[in-house]
Amino acid sequence: MNLMQVFEKFATHDECIEHLERVRWHGKPSCPYCRFERVTPMPAERRHHCNNCKTSFGVTVGTIFHHTHVPLQKWFLAAVLVLNAKKRLSARQLARDLEVNKNTGWRMAMQIQKAVERRDQHEFRCALHTAPCSIRVGTAIREELATHSRSL
Ligand SMILES: [Zn+2]
Repeated sequence: MNLMQVFEKFATHDECIEHLERVRWHGKPSCPYCRFERVTPMPAERRHHCNNCKTSFGVTVGTIFHHTHVPLQKWFLAAVLVLNAKKRLSARQLARDLEVNKNTGWRMAMQIQKAVERRDQHEFRCALHTAPCSIRVGTAIREELATHSRSL
């Protein structure tokens, strides 16, 4: 996906959340803390309540999108910018493009890069799915993409 496609497809916070839920849970949410599968949706908060450990959780728990004040749409756009860049994208450039401060831009770029390196982890798949086939960051990512698109 290119920047415009992501911008249009994930125009709202809810659309970003729905996408992450689809990619992560395939319609069967489970508690990220205890793995229990009997959970009660809390649609107004876009969260779920675990009937085992009694915790409430959202889809971003355990991903690079957790505990962030940056809107998810900016994260998705950041993933495209970072993953589609031919060379390493500077944090300052990312910050300017997304209208966040330079420390936030730096942190986002680092988080996305780290997610790419931890390619077996879930957040990488989520991030990647927003920026598929045109990514030029090496064989590892192409493999991961192939695996991921088969599972869709
Ligand atoms: Zn639980």
